[in-house]
Amino acid sequence: MATKKAKNKVKKVKSNPKIKKTKKVVVKREKKIVIDTNKLLKLEEARKYVVDVAGEKGLEVFEFLISKGEMEENLLAKKLKFEKANAIRKFLYRLYNKNLVSYRKVRKNNKAWYTYFWSANPEKLVFIIREMYEEEIKQTKKSMELNKAEDFYVCDICNRRYDVNEALQNDFRCKNDGGVLTHIESGKILEDKQSRIDFLNKKLHVLDQLVK
Ligand SMILES: [Zn+2]
Repeated sequence: MATKKAKNKVKKVKSNPKIKKTKKVVVKREKKIVIDTNKLLKLEEARKYVVDVAGEKGLEVFEFLISKGEMEENLLAKKLKFEKANAIRKFLYRLYNKNLVSYRKVRKNNKAWYTYFWSANPEKLVFIIREMYEEEIKQTKKSMELNKAEDFYVCDICNRRYDVNEALQNDFRCKNDGGVLTHIESGKILEDKQSRIDFLNKKLHVLDQLVK
């Protein structure tokens, strides 16, 4: 009896429209992250990333799509004064490879070819930069652990590291190239690394504020 009831319950839950609604809302929320694109496009690191990926022209395409919303490829090429419509593809594909733009293809009036509509994904750029900062923070923390031990010496030519005993044994000269070994205070390094982490955390905070 109890089992039957439980079964019924499960069935009810499955077909419960309320649950379906909740699911939809969650999906919607994941997709609809609204970014303050004006502020985003003023961030030097954001612009630099897009230029590195797709060049100055690619940044122009990206900014244009952000300001105008989805646009048909030929119209986009025309508006941005590309000589040929397919000259813009190179830039769109570079952006697409990093998920910074997406496309929708539509076949019109049974024609053999597709018409492409492109749109920008500014939220992806925020995620990418966030990840870059987070990765650097992680790596910096890791190297702080390594540097914690004690002061060391470093060759001024090849940057090889020596601990205090090794440096003494070699008369403060590098075994590879005879370079002078310079004393490095780990305290100073840790300080520098910590201030880099503080700086990156501030940057992360700025990024978080871009999400409306
Ligand atoms: Zn050396």
